[in-house]
Amino acid sequence: MMKRMLFVAVAFLAAATACFAQTADIKIFATSDVHNNYLPYDYFTDTPNEQYGLVKALAPVYAARAAGENVLLFDDGDLIQGNPMGEVLAQTLPTKKNPSPIMTLLNAAGYDAMTLGNHEFNFGLPYLNAVISGAKFPVVNANVVKGKSLKPYFTPYVIIKKTVKDRDGKERVIKVGVTGFAPPQIIQWDNANLAGKVSTVDIYDAAAKYVPEMKKKGADIVVLLAHTGMSAFPRKGGEENAGAYLADIPGVDAVVTGHAHMKFPSKAFASLPGVDLDKGLINGIPFVMPNSFADNIAEIDLTVELKNGKWTRVDAQTKLLPVWDAAAKKSNYEAIPELVNILKDANEKTLAYIRAPIVADASTGGPSAGEVTAPLTSFFALERDQYSVQIINEAQSWYAKTALKGTANAGLPILSAAAPFKAGGRQGPKYYTNVPAGPLAVKNMADLYVYANTVTIIKVTGADVKEWLEMSAGQFNRIDPTATAEQDLINDKFPTYNYDVIDGVTYQIDVTKKARYNTDGTIADAASERIVGLSYNGAPIDPKQEFVVVTNNYRAGGGGNFPNVNPGKIILSSPDESRQVILKYIASRGKIDPKADDNWSLAPFKAAGPVVFQTSPLGADALPSGITFLGLLDTGYGKYALKTE
Ligand code: MN
Ligand code: MG
Repeated sequence: MMKRMLFVAVAFLAAATACFAQTADIKIFATSDVHNNYLPYDYFTDTPNEQYGLVKALAPVYAARAAGENVLLFDDGDLIQGNPMGEVLAQTLPTKKNPSPIMTLLNAAGYDAMTLGNHEFNFGLPYLNAVISGAKFPVVNANVVKGKSLKPYFTPYVIIKKTVKDRDGKERVIKVGVTGFAPPQIIQWDNANLAGKVSTVDIYDAAAKYVPEMKKKGADIVVLLAHTGMSAFPRKGGEENAGAYLADIPGVDAVVTGHAHMKFPSKAFASLPGVDLDKGLINGIPFVMPNSFADNIAEIDLTVELKNGKWTRVDAQTKLLPVWDAAAKKSNYEAIPELVNILKDANEKTLAYIRAPIVADASTGGPSAGEVTAPLTSFFALERDQYSVQIINEAQSWYAKTALKGTANAGLPILSAAAPFKAGGRQGPKYYTNVPAGPLAVKNMADLYVYANTVTIIKVTGADVKEWLEMSAGQFNRIDPTATAEQDLINDKFPTYNYDVIDGVTYQIDVTKKARYNTDGTIADAASERIVGLSYNGAPIDPKQEFVVVTNNYRAGGGGNFPNVNPGKIILSSPDESRQVILKYIASRGKIDPKADDNWSLAPFKAAGPVVFQTSPLGADALPSGITFLGLLDTGYGKYALKTE
């Protein structure tokens, strides 16, 4: 009897659960800032790389579908530009008959919707629209508008009717509202492509307009695809990084962010107001940012319940799934073969492109290639002004002239800071830039510029320039001119990527003086000055004069702890990759005679004993004046001496 009563009670409870709390679980997957990294291949270095690639990052989506889970899949933008495959594909305008392979790929992968990032606009609107025309899923954006009419240029939002299985296995239809946003700054960044055609509105304002509209039209849950980063500063309006503010808007159920190439959830966002890093929420709303280059895919586990005829979010947990297991040094996922296959032709074309010489612009006067008449090496980039660094200085200055045109800072003198990235150190004696004379190929760009930095311009004073160079000068040990024992010139603890050479001014570095700064940017000896004869336009630099310095996002963001170099001084955060700028500069020059301008040098000094340094033994083949080769070391490095008299 007791047993039977219990049975009835359990049956009743089960019925009540089914009746009053119908529940479904949905896995929302999101990619962002893929930048054409579909395949696990680095086209800048022409080598496979198993640490990223969309064909791998999508593996958990395929697995979830195979397991019968309810799956939604979105992309958050910055998809079609960013690596050589993007450049190759943009040479052909897609048509109905010949759609972009990018869209063929996303169609096959079963994307439910995507939004546009700032880089989607880099090749102009006709190409973008042609790419979009191949999508069998909605491409949404709500804050790019037609002229002053404020009418959306793209599809502002969609309400997807998604059939899901609830926890009882019963099929249900859930209405998912999806909208998206790009940084309003695209109007400046892609002015040439967009001026007079479209304008932008604030991300938060666009969301505040369209979320209620989607709810009104019956959306059960609302997903925002926001191609924007997240800032802890209070909102003023017009922000490039407006993602976190969207947590304020009633009716939002999930937010995919991006643009900043960072990870959410992660400790980097611990200071955001209302953040819950354990569940991956802001103000209780699930948020994600899946880093970049498809090295992660984001997952939002959403639990919804039917309440008063509406599916309502009742719980959420977010996480990132990395492609690469850094601890085990292996890839977590196998590439999806059908997706790899779709890109077979695009891959072959891209390989041909990166291995062929850079095509020089027509304006250089002939159908020639971008080429150098002498090798580009970094063997002596710490001891001499070398063209492997100078070319970065020049490309950045060249870029800034156009980028600053028409801005409030257009009249200021342009200086350019660049460092030797491949210059031995802990990476070993083979880690140097060494590009032979002759035509330059796209893949050589990685030899000149290893990192995927973007060009960033900051405004500083003459005094700041002096301190910047004093920090750089920490590259050298202090040489005691009276010591008879051998002395090492190079401070091994100072990474060469922090040895910024500044072009546009002239100066010398006196290594017999103590370093003014420690490697971490703290003052070592406030009384010591190593930078001597710092001049602009042939006269001593005016400490109060304003300059713009073209650098990269790493340095301008505070990387290397350079004194007085910080994000507060940024006047232009370009979305353009430094490597791409160098590539375009080479194309604009055609044939290049690689001669540095010797705007800086080590101040000559006398020393009682030998002053030595190590670099590639290959440097011995073409010794600069004042440097002698002493011999090959067991480490594989060559040992050299600096002439001191
Ligand atoms: Mn991006
Ligand atoms: Mg120079």
